[in-house]
Amino acid sequence: MAAPFASGLSELLWAFVSLVIAIGASQQAFAWAALAPAANRRARWYRALGAGLSLAAGIWAVHGISAATHPFAASFEQAFWIEHLIGLLATGASIGALALLAAGTPPSAGTPPSAGTPSAAATKAGGRRRRIPTWAVAACGLGSALAALQIFGAVSALPAGRYPGAASGAVPLLLAWGASVAGCLLAFKLLCALRDLDQRTIAWGRAGAGAVLGCAMLLCQNLVTMATTLAPPAAPVEVPGNVFAALVVLMASGLLAGLHVLLRRQRQAHAARVQARRSLSALSLNDPLTGLPNRPLFEGTLAQAVQQADAGRRRLALLYINLDGFMPLNQSFGQSGADQVLREVAKRLRALARPHMAARLAGDEFLLLLTGDPQVEDASSLACSVLASIGQPFAVAGREASITCSIGLAMYPEHGALSTLIGHADAAMRAAKAAGGASHALFESRMVNGSRDQVDLLRDLRLALERGQLELYYQPKIHAPTGEITGAEALMRWHHPQRGMVSPVVFIPLAERYGLIGALGQWVIDEACRQAREWRDAGLRMRVAINLSVHQLRQADLAERIGAALQRNKINPDLITCELTESAAMDDTEVTMRVLGQLAALGLHISIDDFGTGHSSLAYLRKLPAHELKIDRSFVADLETSEDARKVASAVINLAKALNLKVVAEGVETEGQNRILREFGCDQLQGFLFAKPMSASALAHWAIEDVGPRTMNFRASLFTDTRIASPA
Ligand code: C2E
Ligand code: MG
Ligand code: MG
Repeated sequence: MAAPFASGLSELLWAFVSLVIAIGASQQAFAWAALAPAANRRARWYRALGAGLSLAAGIWAVHGISAATHPFAASFEQAFWIEHLIGLLATGASIGALALLAAGTPPSAGTPPSAGTPSAAATKAGGRRRRIPTWAVAACGLGSALAALQIFGAVSALPAGRYPGAASGAVPLLLAWGASVAGCLLAFKLLCALRDLDQRTIAWGRAGAGAVLGCAMLLCQNLVTMATTLAPPAAPVEVPGNVFAALVVLMASGLLAGLHVLLRRQRQAHAARVQARRSLSALSLNDPLTGLPNRPLFEGTLAQAVQQADAGRRRLALLYINLDGFMPLNQSFGQSGADQVLREVAKRLRALARPHMAARLAGDEFLLLLTGDPQVEDASSLACSVLASIGQPFAVAGREASITCSIGLAMYPEHGALSTLIGHADAAMRAAKAAGGASHALFESRMVNGSRDQVDLLRDLRLALERGQLELYYQPKIHAPTGEITGAEALMRWHHPQRGMVSPVVFIPLAERYGLIGALGQWVIDEACRQAREWRDAGLRMRVAINLSVHQLRQADLAERIGAALQRNKINPDLITCELTESAAMDDTEVTMRVLGQLAALGLHISIDDFGTGHSSLAYLRKLPAHELKIDRSFVADLETSEDARKVASAVINLAKALNLKVVAEGVETEGQNRILREFGCDQLQGFLFAKPMSASALAHWAIEDVGPRTMNFRASLFTDTRIASPA
């Protein structure tokens, strides 16, 4: 009695081991299959192989253990080759089924595969085309293959003439096939139903699907074994069952363990990629200083909110917030202090807004969006809360700073469509600021009546670049002691087909406000470098100055782009001067400072334009990597009539000399101004007295023919040989 009991116990034990391996292998195969689809083909194959090998290891182990623990009918060699063949076929069937499952899985639970999905099978039923879901096709295929393999394994091991008879074997074999297909269907259906659920539920569901498939495998194998043992008695066992079974377990577990390690590596690599992608997109959509959404992200949010408001016939309110007197604060507290204030402002605004509804536009400008069908009173009350909150003192580096803000309100839909809403809120903010600031104003159409024209102009400006309507004019800079031309300032001109020549004073601010300055500025950089090269080739020694907008200075890759233009045209950086207005240079943000440093490091000349109109402090000026100051022409204009203007001009020239900077006076129109500036020791002069801005060809002609409105020593300065740019 003891022997059958012992053998029954060992069979039970091996069945349990089979079950554990089958479940583990199924779960691991599903985990491989669930890895995010890879972009490249090799990685996709790698993952399909991981999934297929895992499942095949389970199928093979279940069969192998069963074959080992039930008396062998054939030789060991035969059994060896049969097991190998089963392993191979099982791998192929598993890869095919899991790849089909992955390819045909609908994007969300319950969504049938879209029409035209190549993997979806279609049948005609009742005159209508009905689709069999791909997962069901994959499950039936795998279930049938699994049963067929196990039947093949068991039957091919039997010696000829000992196959189970149709009467005794058919039922268990059919049941085995049914169990296998049903198990696969159930497991695959469960996997498909897991889409869109949370990670925890997915993990549990996948474990359940693995358990179902593992049980089905074992049940199928047992039914097959039952059918074959119903056959006439088998020959004596050649290999001790337990040893062979243990070998199978060892090999299958080893394979599964190896695949598990690879699976973990894949998951870690995937998690790292997801993390990197997340941080990259967070960086490009959020303002790095305050962490608030930036303009592009906010515009997306606004577009969505407008869509929802339209659908529900609800209103929206937009608040455009601009800090009053941020520049002086910037100077007295320095860059880090100003940044601290901006961060604190962002924090206070975030506390007043719903998540993702506050944004930083640029500099000291913020936006707040109020959703949920607000009335004008709600928007006003939010504006009052913002005013009160920003009005609270800020603690900056142990000191206290106070600041106010101006707010413009625009309601959707009555104050404009999506495309104009931000602009209208901005116009309202300007009205509030013009009224003295520290208040809010509701948008009124009169605030933009004058700007109807601007809308048309903006539309035309968007096309000006591609239609080739822009041109650079050049105004010479004269070396005061010798009268030689040291360079020319590139000034943009727009040849409007109807309006004629449009001044940059009109279109540059428009471009800055509506995000076109990046493209225009890049065109200026390319064109000025191209011109510098052309002049250099013609033998004209001409340093070209380009004007940079504060918005360009906030582009972190500005220096890189200027460097690339220099490379393209093979010119030395010292042939290019970057002019930035005093207030742009004082835009004391981290990015601006870094970009300025990079421009100087590149070897470009830095010139502070319109000097005297901003609020620069001496300490700050010393920090700037500048080479040149340009006295604003408002001081030059009054030189002959105003003692104050003379004092300012002389003080600026002395200051520049003390700081080792060159001084250029712009807007020199009269001989009197010319004389005074020379007496003060001004280095360079620029103005209508010498030359108005002119086209590049006119300037070249003027220089070569020496036919300018004022005779100057061109030849000596323009035709001296210039260095060839050093190669990259
Ligand atoms: P800016 O850089 O200070 O340029 C000097 C301006 O003064 C030019 O006006 C020039 O034509 C004018 N000007 C020169 N000499 C005299 C003079 O003797 N008398 C008078 N009354 N004016 C004189 P423009 O060309 O209209 O440019 C105005 C401003 O537009 C420039 O001031 C600059 O800030 C901006 N700008 C021009 N081109 C560009 C550009 O390519 N990019 C950027 N960002 N700004 C530009
Ligand atoms: Mg300039
Ligand atoms: Mg200027």
